[in-house]
Amino acid sequence: MEKEIREINSRLKDYFGEAPRPEDQSGIDYLVETILSQNTNDINRDKAFKKLKEKYDSWTDVENADREELIDTIRIAGLGPTKAERIQESLRITREEVGEYSLDFLNDMDVEDAKAWLEDIPGIGPKTAAIILCFHFDRPVMPVDTHVHRVSKRLGLIPEDTSRKKAHKLLDEEVPDDIKYEFHRLLIEYGRKYCKARHPKCKEGPLSDLCESHLEFKEK
Ligand code: SF4
Repeated sequence: MEKEIREINSRLKDYFGEAPRPEDQSGIDYLVETILSQNTNDINRDKAFKKLKEKYDSWTDVENADREELIDTIRIAGLGPTKAERIQESLRITREEVGEYSLDFLNDMDVEDAKAWLEDIPGIGPKTAAIILCFHFDRPVMPVDTHVHRVSKRLGLIPEDTSRKKAHKLLDEEVPDDIKYEFHRLLIEYGRKYCKARHPKCKEGPLSDLCESHLEFKEK
């Protein structure tokens, strides 16, 4: 499987170019931003994060903010009440357990322990934990969003009935550590542009000869 994954990665890299490097921001920024990104698009996530940063001077202020005011501040990202609660709870847990609003201690933890610590926070699942560890801490963890999940199944990298949670485990094992970040980014780009959920453009993309699923889509 490693050979196939490296071939797919190499083709996508040739096609789309180098994956952009992650933004240089703190682990807590990633934590909050990733909560905001749940069930919305990048544009609304970024707008909500910007409003949050403009409204509050510190994470202490966010943790202690009036709940309704916080919901209103991040409204554009959707699911305001749920996300506001998750953000304030994450900040509280971090402050109480770590003594500050910082996740830097995760650097000293084994990857599995770091994942487990993050996933113990209510509302933080395998994808959020993987994004924080992969993007901010440069750890070899493969985040699986809806695009990575769908494309991986269609390409036969994971079985068709694999849940998102299980996909994290399988792809963590299968994707070589040195390409986890770029493979994640490239599969998202490919999924958005070609391997769309409803009408994949198999013939236009660079992977149809590697993928048997395209036969299902009855291309003209
Ligand atoms: S060939 Fe079609 S189904 Fe297969 S990965 Fe590409 S777009 Fe998706």
